[in-house]
Amino acid sequence: MNFQSARGFVLSSFPYAEADKIAQLYTVQLGKVRAIVKGARKPKSKLASALDLFNESSFSLHKGRSGDLYVLGQAKVLNTHSNLKKELKGITALQVLADVLIQAIHDTEPHLEVYSLIKETLAALGAHPGSAELFLTAFTLKLVDLSGYPLELEACAECGASLQRKSAHLIPHRGGALCGDCCPSGPTRLKVSPAGLEVLKKLRELPLEKAHILKLRPAFLRELLLTVLGYLERTIEKQLKTVEYYAKLVPVPG
Ligand SMILES: [Zn+2]
Repeated sequence: MNFQSARGFVLSSFPYAEADKIAQLYTVQLGKVRAIVKGARKPKSKLASALDLFNESSFSLHKGRSGDLYVLGQAKVLNTHSNLKKELKGITALQVLADVLIQAIHDTEPHLEVYSLIKETLAALGAHPGSAELFLTAFTLKLVDLSGYPLELEACAECGASLQRKSAHLIPHRGGALCGDCCPSGPTRLKVSPAGLEVLKKLRELPLEKAHILKLRPAFLRELLLTVLGYLERTIEKQLKTVEYYAKLVPVPG
């Protein structure tokens, strides 16, 4: 059999047939792929522990008989990111990250910049767990850019007026941010205040690992995160599963 080695992260895994699992992986060489892991639910499976969320491994994969499904032969775990999995807040942040990647990334398109972005985000979350929402917001903004749906934040996408000191609505199918005149009754969930727009611009400019230098009120940051995730949902025309769950599970401090 022709095995191919690929380095990647586990985005999800779910039971399949009697003793197997199907895992979604984001890999350097193949982009996002699905792989069947035979016997992964047997007690003595060596592969079971490799399938934890965002474990990074060197996988040995070969193309299965049916369509686009790979068979995972071996996995050498390189990083378990165990420091991120000790607390509920860290785990929910990883679940949001996985949800965004599963929904927003098309299968089998390798994209080295996306891979690096995931790596940077995991490192930043591990180094500054208290700033998880800043990193998730920055990650989503940067992923939107990398996915070819750049979000214009300087000027109204409709009339071209500067958005300096103005609030705006983020409307993907109309080209990005719109001023209040062009979008008087847009969805309130996707409305960003003048201060919010400034923060989004800064988060986009800053390297992701520096996002924690911004000090924001928790409620303000939560609103920005949900707005950016809402913008992504509208862009890809899919609903993220973890957004409501996250908002319920992780209360805004203070
Ligand atoms: Zn306008």
